[in-house]
Order: sequence, then C-alpha cells, then structure tokens
Amino acid sequence: MTKYIFITGGVVSSLGKGIIAASLGKLLRARGFSVINQKFDPYINVDPGTMSPFQHGEVFVTDDGAETDLDLGHYERFTDTSLGKVNNVTSGSVYQHVIEKERRGDYLGATVQVIPHITNEIKSRIVGATKQFKPDFQLIEIGGTVGDIESLPFVEAIRQFKTEAGIGNAISIHCTLLPYLPTSGELKTKPSQHSVNVLRSYGIQPEILVCRTTKPIPKTEKEKLALFCSVNKDAVIECRDMKSIYEVPLALEEQNMAKVVLTMLGVNDRRADLKGWISLVENIKNPKKTIKVAIAGKYTKLSDAYISVVESLKHAGYAANAAIDIKWINSEDCVDFNRCKELMSDVDAVVVPGGFGIRGIEGKLNVIRYARENNVPFLGLCLGMQCAVIEYARHVVGIKDANSAEFDENAQHPVIDLMLEQKNVQAYGGTMRLGAYDCVLKKGSVVYNAYGKEKISERHRHRYEVNNEYIKPLTDAGLVFSGMSPDGMLAEIVELPKLDWFVASQFHPEFKSRPEHPHPLFKGLINAAAKRVK
Ligand code: GLN
Repeated sequence: MTKYIFITGGVVSSLGKGIIAASLGKLLRARGFSVINQKFDPYINVDPGTMSPFQHGEVFVTDDGAETDLDLGHYERFTDTSLGKVNNVTSGSVYQHVIEKERRGDYLGATVQVIPHITNEIKSRIVGATKQFKPDFQLIEIGGTVGDIESLPFVEAIRQFKTEAGIGNAISIHCTLLPYLPTSGELKTKPSQHSVNVLRSYGIQPEILVCRTTKPIPKTEKEKLALFCSVNKDAVIECRDMKSIYEVPLALEEQNMAKVVLTMLGVNDRRADLKGWISLVENIKNPKKTIKVAIAGKYTKLSDAYISVVESLKHAGYAANAAIDIKWINSEDCVDFNRCKELMSDVDAVVVPGGFGIRGIEGKLNVIRYARENNVPFLGLCLGMQCAVIEYARHVVGIKDANSAEFDENAQHPVIDLMLEQKNVQAYGGTMRLGAYDCVLKKGSVVYNAYGKEKISERHRHRYEVNNEYIKPLTDAGLVFSGMSPDGMLAEIVELPKLDWFVASQFHPEFKSRPEHPHPLFKGLINAAAKRVK
C-alpha cells in the first residue's frame, strides 16, 4: 500500500521545498523503496508551457510529453525516476477538467463547488498517480506558501485525504524559515510557529518541520519549535544553506529524517545505500580543475530558465573531477562579431540552448561561428541545433540568406521550416512536438561513440525542424547528420567530426541527465573542454 507524504511551505516562498521533497525521495530510494514525487501548482495556467521563462523558469518536459514545473527536474534527478503528466497538477488543469464535466452534464444538476468538486478532483489526481506508478511512497509538494488564497483548495484536499487515508498512512511535512537576527545573534522561531498555526487553522497538524536556516539550530530552539508546533523533537529537521543542492540528502540523512518518516508511517527501516551519492558529493567538494562554460541565450538574467542545462553541465563536470564555472552570455551582446570574440575568448566550451523567437538569433549564429572556426567545444540544444544548421548553411555552404521560417515566414531559403504536422496548429498550449521519440545514430559517428549504442530515446519540445531539401547541400559541405528519426525523415543530430566536439541536437538531452549518470552529450562536451584546461 502506498504511503503519502505531503509537503507544504510557510513564512516565505523559494524555500527550496522542491529540493527537500526530492532529497527525501532520494533517501527512500536509497533504501530500495519505489518513490514518486508530485507537484501541485496553485496557478490557473493549465501547465507552465505557455509561461515566460523569465517568470517561471524552465519548462521541464517528461517522456510522455508533459510540459511541467522545473521541480519535476529535481525530482527526477534526485530519485532517478522518470515521471509524467500525472506528476504535475495545476489549479488550471483541475478547474478545466471539472468545468468540462459540468458542461457534459456529468454532475446531474448539482451546484458545482470548490468543496467537494474541486477537492475531489484534486484527490483523484493523487490516486490517479498512485494507480499509474504503484509506488511505495508518494511525495506531494504544494507550491506557494500556506495562507495564500490560491492554494486553499489543495490544502483542504490534503486535509481530507489525510483523514481518509487514516493514521500511519499519510503525514505532512511543513517547511519554514528561521530568520537570523544579527543584532541579537539569534535564530527566530516565531514566524515558523505562526506558519504552523495557519496550517492548523486549516485542520492540518504537521508531523515534521524542516527549517531552512543559515546557522545551526541550537538545541533549545529545536525544543521550543517542538513544543509550540506540537511535533516530536526528532522531527524538527535543520536544513542549512549548502554549496551544492546534492549535499542536502546527506544532511537530512545525518538527522535520521527518513527513519523518522518511516517510523511515523509504520514501515520498517532498511539500510540506506548512499555510497554512490557520497562519492558524488566528494567529487563536488574536491574538484581538480575548473572549466569555464558559456551559455549563450536570451534568458540569462534568470538562471532557473536553463536549470536542467546547468545541472547537466555540472553532472558531467563531477564525473570529470571538474567544477563548472558558467559564463552567462546574453546572445544580444554577440550581434557584433568583435564583441562576440571578446566574450568568447576565455571560455573552454559553449552551449547554445533552446529558445523561441528571433531576438538574439544573430548573436547565437556568431557564437556558433566563433566556436566552429576556433574549435571551441560546442553543444547546441534544439534552437541551438537549428542555429548551427543556419550558420553552416550561410557561412560554409554559401546560402547567404539561409534562415528559419520561425524568424522569417517568407524566407527564400528556409533551411529550418515548420513541421508539416504543425501547419494547421492554432493554439499555443501543449501543441508542440513533445516528449520522447526514438532516434537512430549513424554507426561510427561522434554521437554513436558517445552513447555506445545505435538507438536512443530523447525528449523533444519544438515546432520547427531541418528542411530535408537542404540536407544534401549541407552534407556535401561536410555537416554530418548523425542522428535521424527511425523513418529517416527528421534530422535529430548534426555534428562536425573533425572538430574536438561540435554536436547539436533537435532534442533536449538536458532533461535526462542525472547526477550519478551524466548525459553522454554533456560528458562529451565537458571531456573535450577538460583537455583544453591545464
Ligand atoms: N523555437 C524552436 C522550435 O519551435 C526551438 C524550440 C526549442 O528550442 N525548444 O522548433
């Protein structure tokens, strides 16, 4: 029988609840239990696919083609478990479904209300995920902060669910912040007490408190929190700021968090196998060198917009005993080729990530040209691959006005064109080519050697593709199409095998890199870059 763990947050937002939920998931996985994480987002968007990366950070794509919250990326990376559509629930998707049912007449004349109709739908999403994955543990994180108007239906649904599940089958963890007052030299517990009071006013008594803090929590303050918040002393867990998010599971393990959880849920504890994770953290803490990697994109002001790319680079760095120093390059600053040269002069590798729209494109083309002409290890992702093809067409094949139909609908030479299946698509939400598709690698190619196999599956999120009419001239000029869809119709990877590392993919490898299993394409990039660093 699945056991349920609900995770809420209080005092402030951005507490890192996602990392805490993912870390607890890791500790349970290390004990051989199966675990899934679920994220409930109280906003009205049906999914984050249409939201600006500046506002919401990266859109994480699952195998089954869901556009989800970036926390799902953390869950997958920490628990090494692939999730799907059912793992991200938004108010928008809940209301959409309830309203569709109302329009169909499914409610047989009843007045449709938040309680019970919306809360029932939320509870059915919990059970739906349980049925699909049949996990030993299901960890459900509610986005936002308790007390927000928006998240009330979710909090009420948890209250009902916990009661219905019965004692010992569901617990809740409340994450809070202990602010430090330098004037009195103290960590303050009052905001946490108030936040627990708010949660209680909704009928939920948390079993565990996880307190974010910059300083160790003195025993007296832990006791105070336990007393006023009615939790066991062992269940007040400290979560201090760490250099790397991957240290968090070990810090929680030291405080026996998983053991406390298992006892509360009446499950016998097992030996945790954290050997791999411990050596990962050792590598993170003791890098032998530093590799400077540029990310040239347009959302560089918010690093969350490329979080999976950044994590994937780090994963490859850990395996190479190297720290990754990211140099954010705003592609718009590279429109002038001389400025581009300057910005690129001190980097060991460059990634041109995914994106949408024309802004900054000429700069990206310059970055890729510089990388190609100077043999700087390069990885292009989705839009980055499309730009690599345009750059090659323009400067090597000699098609001066080669372009993407995304940037110029009437381009004379659309080397990148809208996919046929997209021609009649009107709505924006959830309509791209999304999720896992197979790709066949060319034997003997750079990527074939990197993956060590012929058939791979990777995640996608795009509307445009390489125009097959240009494959011949591009190939004749030396660009190798080393990955194609199984029917040979869609270009998935291009490479320049003569260079140290010049690979670009239509798919997003960053969604499948895991800290203990870095992705082959990122490994290839970082290993090539490492050779340049003394
Ligand atoms: N804008 C491009 C397309 O839709 C690339 C998308 C992306 O980078 N995710 O095909």
